[in-house]
Amino acid sequence: MMSMIHPSTELRFVGDRVGYGVFATRDIPRGTITWVRDKLDQTFSADEIRQMHENYQRIIGKYGYTDRHGKTILCWDHARFMNHSCAATCLSAGYDFEIAIRDVRAGEELTDDYSTLNLESSFACACSNATCRGHVHPDDRTHSADRWDDLLRASFPQIPRVEQPLWWLVKEKDDVLLASADVSLMRSCRLHFVEQRSLASVH
Ligand SMILES: [Zn+2]
Repeated sequence: MMSMIHPSTELRFVGDRVGYGVFATRDIPRGTITWVRDKLDQTFSADEIRQMHENYQRIIGKYGYTDRHGKTILCWDHARFMNHSCAATCLSAGYDFEIAIRDVRAGEELTDDYSTLNLESSFACACSNATCRGHVHPDDRTHSADRWDDLLRASFPQIPRVEQPLWWLVKEKDDVLLASADVSLMRSCRLHFVEQRSLASVH
């Protein structure tokens, strides 16, 4: 299947509570770009969503995420089924893509940390990791951003060393290669964070 999430992934049913998730179909090494925001992903303003039928609003609420401009993004492929984990396999530095921040084995689920995605409200988590926070809050990112950047900086040097089937989609190629050679140049994950002020004005 053609997609802008890593081609060696597939959708699998996890269980009644979680629904579906995205799983690796072969080993995906640390530093692999696992998802890139691309032209086929849909972008909605808060106004556009307000004018939609409530069924559409429910779908966007469940599968969308909020970008740094306060816009809601709905991924067109199975990337929208990426689940949260308090020990996420994938994170995004300040670029329009995510990378694996550790080796992911074939059969393992690929996960995000939803508190990186401009959450509007808290939710109870049952990710069963030793480091599970129990509840995931919008401001978790305030305490976690340094740790996420550390994980990303530790993984960035791998970017040119591993197979990158999604490289053609990356918009910031030169910057990313420079940052992989000198991780002090890596853009922080904080670049994705919407200011609380602008969130309030959008909703
Ligand atoms: Zn958890």
